[in-house]
Amino acid sequence: MAEGHAVARWGDALRKLVGERVDDIRVPPRWRERANNIVGSRLTLVQTHGKHLVLHFSSGWVVHTHAMQYGSWQIGPLGQSLRKDARFARLRLTTPVSDVVFYHGPVMEVLSLEELAAHERFISLGPDLLHDDFPAATVLAVVKAQGDREIGDVILDQRIVSGIGNIYKSEGLFLATIDPRRPATSITAQELDVFFAELIPLMQAGRYVYGMTVTLPPDLQLEPWMRNWVYRRRGQPCFVCATPIQMIRQGEFQRATYFCQHCQA
Ligand SMILES: [Zn+2]
Repeated sequence: MAEGHAVARWGDALRKLVGERVDDIRVPPRWRERANNIVGSRLTLVQTHGKHLVLHFSSGWVVHTHAMQYGSWQIGPLGQSLRKDARFARLRLTTPVSDVVFYHGPVMEVLSLEELAAHERFISLGPDLLHDDFPAATVLAVVKAQGDREIGDVILDQRIVSGIGNIYKSEGLFLATIDPRRPATSITAQELDVFFAELIPLMQAGRYVYGMTVTLPPDLQLEPWMRNWVYRRRGQPCFVCATPIQMIRQGEFQRATYFCQHCQA
């Protein structure tokens, strides 16, 4: 699942290609005419914000992507063998030395800079917790202003903080011992501090690891499938207190939240 840490990792890999000239770009028919403006120009900037990734080119056009839950990137040398069928590629671009593929991504659009600057979803994003200048201290007021909304729903809202997905939401609230059902307005500065202090290093570490999202420390990973404290562990004993983990659904989109009723009381 593409949470902010995976997008940051893809961004890191793509930044190594800055300066390379695009020789060919393949996109769905809807975007083909616009994409022609990118051929012959150079990659100038790779921007990541939460789960959004934007490639900027010297011709003034950008490619805006959002991987949602299924999209992924493959970034390698020209001539690399694809790890998925090429028909799943929503975007493929090649330079004299590199091959970049974006698979399954539900959002892939070729935009002008003006369109990106007016892109409702992109410009309404809250601060990215993986950016160095993440203003953790200012987020509290925004969270509290959500009133009775449950914190497990609020913290997933990309307009408030961007980058947290469903796994890190449950894991972060568990590590900060915050009950996900609590109203946002009841969260204290200290609790939110602990939440970010636990979560940000975990996500920064996840940025450099491929594969499944692991949040458990190595000494608790007794079996290969033991990866997380509470995520997808409904009914199994809490690693701290042995209370069965619960699952509830929260928010407009009824996203699953896992928690320990005892540890997060
Ligand atoms: Zn517990």
